[in-house]
Amino acid sequence: MKAMRSNGEQGAGKTRPRRLLLCLDGVPHEVMETARERGLFDSFGPPSRLLSPFPTMTNVALSAMLGATSPLGYESLYFDKNARELRGGVSKYIGWRTPDKIPSSYMDELDYQEPLAFEFLVYVAPDKVWRTDMRRFHERFRDAPQTRDFFAFLKGTDGLLHIRGPERLAVALESLDKILREIQTTCGWETEIVLFSDHGMNLRENRRVHMKTHLRDRGFLPGSSFSERSRATVAIPAFGLCGYAAVYCGDEDAVADVANALVELEGVDFSVYKDGSEVVAVTGSNGVARIERKQTDAATSYRYLISEGDPLQLRPIVETMKQSGKLDAEGFASDEDWLEVTANHTYPDPLANLYTSLYTPRVRHTADVLVSLLDGYYYGWSPFARLTRLAATHGNALRPSSNAFLMSTHRVLPPYIRADNAQPLLRG
Ligand SMILES: [Zn+2]
Repeated sequence: MKAMRSNGEQGAGKTRPRRLLLCLDGVPHEVMETARERGLFDSFGPPSRLLSPFPTMTNVALSAMLGATSPLGYESLYFDKNARELRGGVSKYIGWRTPDKIPSSYMDELDYQEPLAFEFLVYVAPDKVWRTDMRRFHERFRDAPQTRDFFAFLKGTDGLLHIRGPERLAVALESLDKILREIQTTCGWETEIVLFSDHGMNLRENRRVHMKTHLRDRGFLPGSSFSERSRATVAIPAFGLCGYAAVYCGDEDAVADVANALVELEGVDFSVYKDGSEVVAVTGSNGVARIERKQTDAATSYRYLISEGDPLQLRPIVETMKQSGKLDAEGFASDEDWLEVTANHTYPDPLANLYTSLYTPRVRHTADVLVSLLDGYYYGWSPFARLTRLAATHGNALRPSSNAFLMSTHRVLPPYIRADNAQPLLRG
């Protein structure tokens, strides 16, 4: 079952202390900072901002952070581009923990994750679920061999934030702080605790975006499969209530039209789609721009070309980079320079982040159009929406969802880290 335990034997207890890796689903960097101001987790170094990739969803984030295989789609309900139909969903979700259905290889590395039923119960009884989740994790960790790393994923924090909001999460973090102090007393300096999250969240009430209705009004036909090549058919998997949407088009000629049709929909910030090779088109209510990448043997560079407005709010930054001589004659700057000047931007690290969302296999079935919603809006499956009001959500490319955190009891980590660069810090 645990044949793929990759790093544990090499490092743990030999070249470095044994590690407890503990991922708290959906806990934003700012929430961890607030908890520390209240005196919690004071044996840890300062929390780094761990930049969660767009769309800021668990499977996308954890597979990047652990250098694991790509999941099939952004969520368990996904569109299969070969079969040209929706696949997965609730029934698949229930069954996904048999080996052939594991959505990404990071799941092989988990020593603890909540029992299956919790994933749905969390929406109706979030308090009970996180308490049981934390207790079980603690029990499981106590019984684990001390010579190996232990990797646990606490999912209860995500549901708690979605349904109850930050005040109740604060209570849960107090309990976790107590558990971790106890672990430190028992295990001592021989065990390093690495606490991190997969993505952040906006902490505000969120309303539904009526994407299918809007597209229907514009002449498109949202459905669950593409029987024939048609300009009008689109599929938009609706599952969790999240701040992004993945649109698949029946005909590639319709991709730009779909993105343009979404500009006027309330709650849509912008859409991205591939426009030629090494180019991402960004189109939204704040304007139209292109992200272009140039790859040479020595380096990766990007430029941001505005054709109207400033959809990613980068104009002042481009100006500053120009003045400090960081742009070449064509307006390209190195990937490293862009990361440095935009790591704490409204859209963290936007050029590389949005580029890789479409041009690298974040998931196996990449969407034709990825839509980033404004904070305060979600798209998703309506039966979930009827269960409850949504006190917080994540999924878009804005800072609250993109800023996860990473901190250690033994190491001071860099102030910001791209998800794609986290693996050596977690497992190395
Ligand atoms: Zn969530």
